[in-house]
Amino acid sequence: MDYKNVKGTHDVFLKEADDYSYVEQTMKMIAELFSFKEVRPPVLEYSEVFVRSVGDSSDIVRKEMYTFLDKGNRSITLRPEFTAGIVRLVNQNKLLFNNELPLKTYYCGPVFRYERPQLGRYRQFNQFGVEALGHNSPYVDIDVIVLAYTILNSLGLENVTLKINTLGDDASREAYKKALKDYFANFIDNMCEDCKNRFVTNPLRILDCKVPEDQEIAKKAPKIFDYLSNESKDRFEIITTALDEMGIPYEIDDQLVRGLDYYSETVFEFHYTSNLGNNYGAIGAGGHYGNLIHELGGEKLPGVGFSFGVERIVSVLKDNNLLDNKEDSGLMFYVMPLDKKCNLLAEMITNQIRIFGYSADMCFDNIKVGSMFKRADKRSAKYAILLGEDELNNNKFVLKNLSTKEQSTYDLEDLEEVLNNELENDEHECCCGHDHEHCQCHHDE
Ligand code: AMP
Repeated sequence: MDYKNVKGTHDVFLKEADDYSYVEQTMKMIAELFSFKEVRPPVLEYSEVFVRSVGDSSDIVRKEMYTFLDKGNRSITLRPEFTAGIVRLVNQNKLLFNNELPLKTYYCGPVFRYERPQLGRYRQFNQFGVEALGHNSPYVDIDVIVLAYTILNSLGLENVTLKINTLGDDASREAYKKALKDYFANFIDNMCEDCKNRFVTNPLRILDCKVPEDQEIAKKAPKIFDYLSNESKDRFEIITTALDEMGIPYEIDDQLVRGLDYYSETVFEFHYTSNLGNNYGAIGAGGHYGNLIHELGGEKLPGVGFSFGVERIVSVLKDNNLLDNKEDSGLMFYVMPLDKKCNLLAEMITNQIRIFGYSADMCFDNIKVGSMFKRADKRSAKYAILLGEDELNNNKFVLKNLSTKEQSTYDLEDLEEVLNNELENDEHECCCGHDHEHCQCHHDE
């Protein structure tokens, strides 16, 4: 039988795994610059955490959660998103009491949703995101949006489309939901089954329907701006003014409602169509939430966050050739035992070199020396260390610079000094192998 990965999951290996690390490290580094600190909630949470927060009218809770009873008959869910778990973690550990607010956190890891697999849509995928908790200033929302934008720019993604909307405060949203219900009541019998459900549970969701006929109806629905309280209007104005002043382009999209129940006030999404024309959907999204912390047993304090889909970001970067120069930096030393008898010495020297702080690997096959050089070449090794019987018997080693082809024999006891000197000289060398004074390249031409 052939074993295959589970439908909707994907294997990441070798160069692509490096790409993922590069993207995630870049995101973490910039989040740290913005003074966000890492949190690592567990993958497993009690199902209630998501049902209460993401909302039982959301597609995630209704159709997409990986939920099971554990052996103690407790309902457990593999996290379909991070926010609820982080709020649970923060409440449980009382982090909003002893820290300056907002508490600024970031996270990175896998999430699970039972969705129909398609371009940019997996059942296990990775999210990187942030949550800033416990402070109501609109400038916290701005800080979070600016961070997301800065990360995308640092990865080389220019011309990102930031779509932004406001869902208003609770009173504005209730008034708006009522207006939507009155409007959709005339059409709902002819709309999709999901919309019929949304009409009862949360009519805002209808605006998010992907069925073209329903979208046409939704386009003519009442607009949130006509139902906003003055406070919500002012808040949104502060945010858009700041984006204008900071030169961050955006589009106001009054159909943007987001798929999770806990959002209020500011919501946003980042979109990007790659150079190959692939549209992977939103590459990141987020918003402000007024009641979630309280819903999950904490204080009446708000939060704001966003989440990037790491797979989608890697895909757009790849399509735009923005990962091409992130080549494997190669191996510094390739150690070649020329005889079986030299294997132990090779292993010991290889390890010694690693302890000096240089990358090293040995050839585990006792093959012809020419084949070993080919392997060294394939690994982009800078140096070969050759160990034959003579070297073994006389405590020597041969060091060969694989670009200049120069080689010399040295005493084993001088290994560290020789390698350090060699690498120091190498730093002064040009790509042609000569030192810069005698360089024969024509760099200026
Ligand atoms: P959400 O929590 O639904 O707002 O999703 C945040 C981000 O995760 C989205 O903007 C996507 O980039 C990414 N994402 C959501 N669902 C998937 C999926 N099924 N596969 C891959 N990425 C996804």
